[in-house]
Amino acid sequence: MIQFEHVSKRYDEGFDALKDVSFTINTGEMAFLTGHSGAGKSTLLKLVMLMEQPTAGHIQVGEQILNRLGRHDIPYLRRSIGVVFQNHQLLFDRSVFDNVALPLNICGYSPEDAARRVRAALDKVGLLDREKMNPMALSSGEQQRVGIARAIVHKPKVLLADEPTGNLDPQLSAEIMRLFEQFNRVGTTVLIASHDLSLISSMRHRMLTLKSGRLIADG
Ligand code: ADP
Ligand code: ADP
Repeated sequence: MIQFEHVSKRYDEGFDALKDVSFTINTGEMAFLTGHSGAGKSTLLKLVMLMEQPTAGHIQVGEQILNRLGRHDIPYLRRSIGVVFQNHQLLFDRSVFDNVALPLNICGYSPEDAARRVRAALDKVGLLDREKMNPMALSSGEQQRVGIARAIVHKPKVLLADEPTGNLDPQLSAEIMRLFEQFNRVGTTVLIASHDLSLISSMRHRMLTLKSGRLIADG
């Protein structure tokens, strides 16, 4: 589902954020991406979601070979990917419901269909009773669950997360990870960047380790 072949990424400033990285994550797999701050985790995720282009190598997500994508293919690919950010990037000028509905607005669903999907997503993260609230009024764990509902509302094949538990205490972090496992069990391919080794080593999933832009361990 996600394949990197000899991928390197050099930013304009001349810094190699990724060096000759190769791996394959199969459909339905769940894996963690770990390494110290600056190791290249965010860069790798940005390449998968087309926020950055590789300097060298090939990247494939699903059937799409990213290097060969035209501009018109990019929105299509983004629709097959859901992304969860550390600071959840919720909009505080609208309700929980409207935040979760955002990815659907560009897909052209009818209001009824969109509402059904938003409520299904909120139900999956246990926040159905919060739909009318402003996300500002929620706890940080709940805010992150809204971020996850927004990431899965369009039923992506691939779910990416960048330090999704970065601001949460250990118990809430474990709950968030169990949510990701729940989506993985129904077939979503999941890749989570996290430097929280004690949490992720307790979870028995594949772990890809980056060090200074190189993939130094995979198992
Ligand atoms: P991580 O997510 O593991 O902390 P990043 O992928 O954010 O690592 O960063 C890897 C390296 O690339 C770091 O040294 C960082 O400073 C550098 N970097 C990240 N983004 C940019 C950018 N837009 N321009 C230049 N250098 C960057
Ligand atoms: P559709 O609406 O495409 O006909 P279903 O009604 O069978 O599909 O969908 C079941 C529910 O699962 C939907 O309401 C949907 O919102 C929800 N769902 C959302 N994201 C995911 C996901 N990543 N994996 C599984 N189910 C999801």
